[in-house]
Amino acid sequence: MAKKDRTFAAKLAHDQKKKEAKLCPVCGAGIQHAVLYEARYKNGKQWSPVRKVVDICDCNKDWVYNQVKK
Ligand SMILES: [Zn+2]
Repeated sequence: MAKKDRTFAAKLAHDQKKKEAKLCPVCGAGIQHAVLYEARYKNGKQWSPVRKVVDICDCNKDWVYNQVKK
């Protein structure tokens, strides 16, 4: 999963440079966008990557990082 980690880190760093002013209405933290790739299995053997764009703030960052750290 090293490649996936690098991709995620690079994307996160890129978004941090943009410094979007968007704030989460729930926790008030700045929202960052990141792209996650998940493996979706078909018939238990074949799989294909599923691209997901997620908004990261204090509400869900623990969940998101857990997805990446596998
Ligand atoms: Zn939030």
